[in-house]
Formats: sequence, structure tokens, C-alpha cells
Amino acid sequence: MESNIKRKELNVSAIENGTVIDHISQGKVLQVVKILGLESFEDQIYLGANLESKKFGKKGIIKVSNRFFQEDDINRIALVSPTATIIEIRDYDIIKKFNVQVPEKVAGIVKCINPKCVTNNQKIPTKFEVYTIDDRLRLKCHYCEKFTNQENFEFNQG
Ligand SMILES: [Zn+2]
Repeated sequence: MESNIKRKELNVSAIENGTVIDHISQGKVLQVVKILGLESFEDQIYLGANLESKKFGKKGIIKVSNRFFQEDDINRIALVSPTATIIEIRDYDIIKKFNVQVPEKVAGIVKCINPKCVTNNQKIPTKFEVYTIDDRLRLKCHYCEKFTNQENFEFNQG
């Protein structure tokens, strides 16, 4: 009986193959879903929000079946939630676990806030240097040198 209950819990909480994005900053789960283009993903996805976390107070979690993320997507996650942890799972085993790292430079992921910027008027991918000022991320445009602040990040779909 007891093992039945355990198995049930396992079915709900564990994925066989895929990626767990853990320690997502409070309130950012749906934004992470959006920037990863998971709204139209057809395999299983579990979302959790407002979960207790010893490290961060409250956190969110996303579990995505049969999907592994490349560097561009990991960088997107880092820009939305620098605290996130990525856990890759195969056959129910953790094969890789790492914290996302805010990159020093980002290219082609976020739009420049300046409507007059060349990247908003010609087919030139954006390019930024990443600054952290007072715990907030700011991106300095390589072309127009304007800053795009965290609350204004508009992501290009990968
Ligand atoms: Zn610009």
C-alpha cells in the first residue's frame, strides 16, 4: 500500500526525461514559460508557483518533459530569473544540475528599447553588454548605447 502511494507521488512530481527549471524568482514562472515558447509546447509541463524555498523565501518551478534547452534559452532564463537552477533528467536520473549564469553579453535575445536604434529599423540582431546595478539587470546596446532595464525586457522568440 505504502509503495503504491509513493509511486503515485512519483508520477505527479517526477518526469522521466526532460528539464526541471527550479528556483525561479517569485512571480516569474509565466514569463519563463513565455520566453521559452512553451505556451504552444504539446508534451507534459508542470508549473508550480509560490512554493516555499529555504534559500529564496518563495519560488517557482517548471518541469518540461522531453525538452532540453540550449545556451540561448538558458541565457533567456538567466535574464528573467538569475536565481534559477537547471536540472536535466534522463530515465528519472539527474544527469546535470547547474545554476544559470547571467551572461556578460547577449546577442539577438532581447529587443532594444530605443525605437530609433538601428536594430529596430534594419535586419540587424541586437547586441548588449549586461550590467547589474542595484540587483537589477540593465542591458547596454552595442549600437545606440541606450540602456534597456529589466522591467522593459522584450524577448525575441527563439
Ligand atoms: Zn539600441
